[in-house]
Amino acid sequence: MAAEAVKAQEEAKPKAEKQTNCLACNKPIKKLKLYYRNGKFYCNKKCWRTFMDKSKAQGKEEQK
Ligand SMILES: [Zn+2]
Repeated sequence: MAAEAVKAQEEAKPKAEKQTNCLACNKPIKKLKLYYRNGKFYCNKKCWRTFMDKSKAQGKEEQK
């Protein structure tokens, strides 16, 4: 009996370390709502700007 009943299970594809969450609101980003900017992903333009403002604010710590 050579029953090949056991079919190779679908191997889980190696998960590349991809960014899946928005950097601004940290919500999981869906493919349909992907906003790509400067090598990072965001939900939309609004989140991108939010993140930019955050980074700017952090860099301005030593400004009088
Ligand atoms: Zn977002």
